[in-house]
Amino acid sequence: MAVEEPGGAGESGEPGAWACPRCARDLVRETMRSGRRRAKEWRRCPGCGFLGRPDLGGRPVLHPFRELTGEDGDCVFCGWEDCNRAGEAFAWNDWWCEWIVCTACGRENVRRIKRVSP
Ligand SMILES: [Zn+2]
Ligand SMILES: [Zn+2]
Repeated sequence: MAVEEPGGAGESGEPGAWACPRCARDLVRETMRSGRRRAKEWRRCPGCGFLGRPDLGGRPVLHPFRELTGEDGDCVFCGWEDCNRAGEAFAWNDWWCEWIVCTACGRENVRRIKRVSP
């Protein structure tokens, strides 16, 4: 489920006026710049820790992400620990997949979780 941007929030069209879908607090903008790759933007809730990422296609939606820890949190590219963030699972080619973003090196990839049961 993606979170719809509240229409007419009265914030003069400034993107960033997101409210937390869980506790309705204003989300804090967090910019991540990694190496040569373009900056990535996130929104974090100072109350409950909700983490969202604005749609890259420019749609006014926020995709919920979560921070991974342990083995799943380690980047397969740069080897940094506890740096991965995962989006919501989606079905693709008979597999449940997660979109993984590394906050250390900025690389992104899709990780298979398990087969979609028939
Ligand atoms: Zn919240
Ligand atoms: Zn990495």
